[in-house]
Amino acid sequence: MPTSNPAALVYPSRVPAHYRSRIDGADPQDPLHLQTIPQTAELCFDPREMSDPIGDDRHSPCPHLVHRYPDRVLLIPTHACAIHCRYCFRKEKLASSPKAFPFSDLLPAFDYIRKHTEITEVILTGGDPLLLPDKTLGLLRSTVEDIPHLRALRIHTRMPIVSPKRITPRLVRALSGKLLVTFVTHANHVRELCAETKTAAELLRRAAFVLLNQTVLLKGVNDDADTLATLFQELFYSHGIKPYYLHHCDLTRGLLHFRTSIDCGLRIMETLRGRLSGVCLPQYVLDLPGGHGKIPLCPPYIHARKGFAWTFRSPTGVLCDYEEVIPENPP
Ligand SMILES: *Cc1c(COP(=O)(O)O)cnc(C)c1O
Ligand code: SF4
Repeated sequence: MPTSNPAALVYPSRVPAHYRSRIDGADPQDPLHLQTIPQTAELCFDPREMSDPIGDDRHSPCPHLVHRYPDRVLLIPTHACAIHCRYCFRKEKLASSPKAFPFSDLLPAFDYIRKHTEITEVILTGGDPLLLPDKTLGLLRSTVEDIPHLRALRIHTRMPIVSPKRITPRLVRALSGKLLVTFVTHANHVRELCAETKTAAELLRRAAFVLLNQTVLLKGVNDDADTLATLFQELFYSHGIKPYYLHHCDLTRGLLHFRTSIDCGLRIMETLRGRLSGVCLPQYVLDLPGGHGKIPLCPPYIHARKGFAWTFRSPTGVLCDYEEVIPENPP
């Protein structure tokens, strides 16, 4: 999108045609516009913000690989992305990395995965892995498949939302094989969904892929219960995509204008619990800085406890006593 904002010089702007066509140009508060338009506020860094907000580098044993949890790794086959979300947690890498690198650059990562038999799942992320050609994705899939201890392949991609025509029968064939395939899409507002995203989701579901979605909690875009309720219900009921995570906005540099308080997120989760079907309800998570991993952020349902006598707070705010009835009291 042509723009004269200085933020676009530091973090280049990129919006695919499909997504651009969905933006309401007449409304400066349009949620799609806010996610993609460079703003001067992005250049206001708070000293407590970070260039590597979730400590990926600390857990990277070799290039293109992040191994933080024992049983799963992130494999980053490209840092390029179809869209440049202004709040991207890897925006520094997005801006500074080469668009593509040769497949041979990934070989040390595969050697590492082969040696670490505790790994069961490979997560392709980026950037957006679906920017790679089908042939490369097919090669990635078969390389993963040939490692006997791997059981699942996961793909973190915003393509079904921002460029849904990328999802084709050919792509599905390239990714289909022996392993369970999970797609984790990324949608933040119901206006990002349309007939084309639904067609893309149907294609993936017909291939027996598991579909999940992650959402980033963003000020001005989706930081209220009604907006998120509509998104989560539409994702699941119309697209068959299960809301998986609601991410608290990371401490990435220049995101002050997008960040809500944790209290705001907790209040939203409190409103949604009990109101939305459990299948529509994601887990609200915070990725701890320093590479310590994700933790769930939960409203305080435990009000008090004394031994095995608990007092819980119901979703509607009623205090309920609960006495545990178990065979014997563990120490
Ligand atoms: C988020 C993340 C994962 C995936 O975690 P899940 O809870 O399984 O979705 C894996 N590795 C790293 C480094 C991550 O940041
Ligand atoms: S789709 Fe993901 S990786 Fe790409 S710019 Fe947005 S947040 Fe970053």
